Amino acid sequence: MLSVLHVSHFFQFDQSIQWAVGGLERLTEPLPPSKRLWVSRKYQVQHWILPAVDDIIEHIEEGKKIRLLTRDDIHLIGVDAYALIVNALERMQVLRISVSLVPPKVQHAGVCQHNQTCRENWERVWITRMPSILLSPNSYTFLASLPVILQRIAFSHVPAACKALTLEVIEQLDSIILAERSIKDSVATSIWDIYKH
Ligand SMILES: [Zn+2]
Repeated sequence: MLSVLHVSHFFQFDQSIQWAVGGLERLTEPLPPSKRLWVSRKYQVQHWILPAVDDIIEHIEEGKKIRLLTRDDIHLIGVDAYALIVNALERMQVLRISVSLVPPKVQHAGVCQHNQTCRENWERVWITRMPSILLSPNSYTFLASLPVILQRIAFSHVPAACKALTLEVIEQLDSIILAERSIKDSVATSIWDIYKH
């Protein structure tokens, strides 16, 4: 497939390029992300960038299953794009630290009789549990799965209705849930700016 891409690109056969790219996408054993970024750059396949960036970020951050980018990977990706990915990783780490250490405001339902106790307990459980979950060196938890994680945590002495209401608000909070996504989107866009001819 890669050689078809090469020949098609050389002769500017757009349809053959599309065919070869489609074939590569259907491979059961997909190309490694650094190779996919290389294809994106060489054959101008923009829609391959974001998933490849996703995979690189997950591999790097998967704790024990860590797979650091090799010198060959960096050569394929290009130094400028690599710098963007490293920067995105740093920003994501800062985001995860602040989410773990700064509890969002609890929302009180009508049944909540002691707002202050409710709030104190919500914050106490958050500060006690979230850092070990979000900052664990052994596993990588996406902020997008925050509502599911919170659902499983017992917030003792926080009325169930307050917890439910708060989770609803958190799910709608673009700033927490979508921040991670938007960092990846922006790095993919910036990489495309570097790659496009
Ligand atoms: Zn409450």
